[in-house]
Amino acid sequence: MSVVFDPDRILEKVLPKKADDLLTSDLKFRDKFKQNLLRLDFLTKGDINKGIAKSLQFYNRKIKDLKAQGESAAEAKAQAINGGALLKARLSDLVVEKASEDIKEKFAGKQYIWLPSSAEDPDPVHALNYGKTFIVGEGEQPGERYGCRCGMEFLGVSHTDPDIPDIMKVNPGKVKQQLETGKARAQEAAKARVADIEARIKEADAKIKDIEAREAQVKQAEAQKAIDFETKTYDLYDKVLKDNKIDAIEPIKYRVIDKSESKKLMIDLKIQKDLTGYTHEINSEIYHFITGIRANGKAGHGDAIFESKIGQIAVQKKDLLLIPEITKNYDSVSIKTRGGMKLRYVKKIKEKTYYYSESVSNPKSKVLRPKTMFIKK
Ligand SMILES: [Zn+2]
Repeated sequence: MSVVFDPDRILEKVLPKKADDLLTSDLKFRDKFKQNLLRLDFLTKGDINKGIAKSLQFYNRKIKDLKAQGESAAEAKAQAINGGALLKARLSDLVVEKASEDIKEKFAGKQYIWLPSSAEDPDPVHALNYGKTFIVGEGEQPGERYGCRCGMEFLGVSHTDPDIPDIMKVNPGKVKQQLETGKARAQEAAKARVADIEARIKEADAKIKDIEAREAQVKQAEAQKAIDFETKTYDLYDKVLKDNKIDAIEPIKYRVIDKSESKKLMIDLKIQKDLTGYTHEINSEIYHFITGIRANGKAGHGDAIFESKIGQIAVQKKDLLLIPEITKNYDSVSIKTRGGMKLRYVKKIKEKTYYYSESVSNPKSKVLRPKTMFIKK
């Protein structure tokens, strides 16, 4: 016969299978089980009474709380006790802990084989010890950790030793089988954990891909918007220059002023006027600054030679594409109110300083239209 420490064998012998059998209908601990526990020589009467009292206290408190919340007495009792599971778990842990302490003392220095736990979800660290040989008193031992139900098979201890109680004597074949099923269960549990982690990684990957796809969509939409703006702006530029006049060409509405843009303007311009909902647009008014010397003798800012004479650079087609950036991320902005409200933005971009003005329409049409643009070195 093998000599073993098997927590489950001890627990089965002293505690009922069904946890609620521990208590009578009026919530008293059943004497039969108290007697069982008292027969275990490694448990003192004090340990047992303390363990039972603590759990009963817990139940009574819970019942009181539930009743205070409006549950009926019967319902409160049923819910609080919930099958007596807590009481059984507490007593089981007490028994195993004390048994383990007792073993440590009685078998000090003996070799043992670590036997598997019967726990539903075995401790993966303990699972690494299954079947390996250790020495009592060196390192962690089965039953020490809270909830541990691992066992021990002692080597070099004879079952004929009169000090060995019957509960520790087990058929060697049974021990071997217990070891094998335990190992297999631990392997299954490990596999399930790995599968769970893999599933979670997959889920996270899918989320990342989803985010990336959405980001790509946004980027593409922005790129498309930029292309559209360029096409429309160049079209407008070409038409205005070709006809050499301001025509009724559809304006390009490139941005509606939101609350934050308006707030920034109010602060920077020190004005009370809220421009939220106004739209920035580019229209055929660009005629006034993309042209050179015109038939009437007036000049825009589109002629390179003329501009260089006054220390400026001619406004070219591609400069119009900067207007949304200039009006949004200007270096400075100022206001003129004489002859209608006008905003003048200044922004330095790549060694060139852009001056761009917009006229603010009446509150009915709510638009900001190009007034002038010139560029200084
Ligand atoms: Zn364990």
